[in-house]
Amino acid sequence: MPRKYDNQPIRISPQSRIRAEDALSKIRLSPGMTANDVVETVAEVIGKPIVLESTVDDRFKTTTGTFAITLEFVFIVFRGIDPHSYQMHSLFHELGHLLCGHTNCERPATAPDSDPTRQLLWNEAEREAEFLAYKIAALISRKPRSSQAFG
Ligand SMILES: [Zn+2]
Repeated sequence: MPRKYDNQPIRISPQSRIRAEDALSKIRLSPGMTANDVVETVAEVIGKPIVLESTVDDRFKTTTGTFAITLEFVFIVFRGIDPHSYQMHSLFHELGHLLCGHTNCERPATAPDSDPTRQLLWNEAEREAEFLAYKIAALISRKPRSSQAFG
């Protein structure tokens, strides 16, 4: 049964979970925070402003999002053609990388729940970022736990 953004379908190793939880502990999230609030919070932790860009560039046909770290700021790009909820998920995924101290994103273009076997191809860093994407979404959700989802 496909699960959307209201659960954590990602499988990570105990070590990855510890790293991800540790990364998450660097920021304080609360229900009702917006995506922008989360971006600001992460920017404070990493000490650089985060610039967001939604793109419909052809090069983004095969990737949902990515980021680049420069000396001055961090640039996060995500695919503008995706549904809003998925763009948010992509954004939180990239923020997850930043919190973990990862330097790049090698996420496949497909949604994590589209085909469970593809998930096996994900590397540890991608799983950690993905785990954090779900965690962040859950922590800022105003909705009761039973119906957590982006609207
Ligand atoms: Zn990634």
